[in-house]
Amino acid sequence: MTSTTTETDTATRITGDTDLRPDHGDHERFAHYADRDKITEATVLGTPVVALCGKVWVPSRDPKKYPVCPECKRLYELGPDGRMRDWNERGASE
Ligand SMILES: [Zn+2]
Repeated sequence: MTSTTTETDTATRITGDTDLRPDHGDHERFAHYADRDKITEATVLGTPVVALCGKVWVPSRDPKKYPVCPECKRLYELGPDGRMRDWNERGASE
C-alpha cells in the first residue's frame, strides 16, 4: 500500500497561463476522451492533446476526479463512423 500523492506536481503547472482559455473555463474541469496512447504520453510529458470534442487540454493524472466531458462522451458513443460524419458536418458548416 502506498500513500503517495502527485497533487503538488499538478499544482506547480498552474502558472500564469490563464489567458490561454478560449471563451469559458469549464474544459479543465472535465475528463475528455482522446487517443489513449496520446493521453499516456501527454500525462507523462505534461503536453496538451486534442480531445474528441476538439478541445486541446492537458490530461489529468487522475481523470476519475472529473466528470466526463459530455461532448466527448457523445462523440465516443457515436463510434468511429458517427464521429467522422459529425466532424464532416461540422466542417461543412464553417
Ligand atoms: Zn471533451
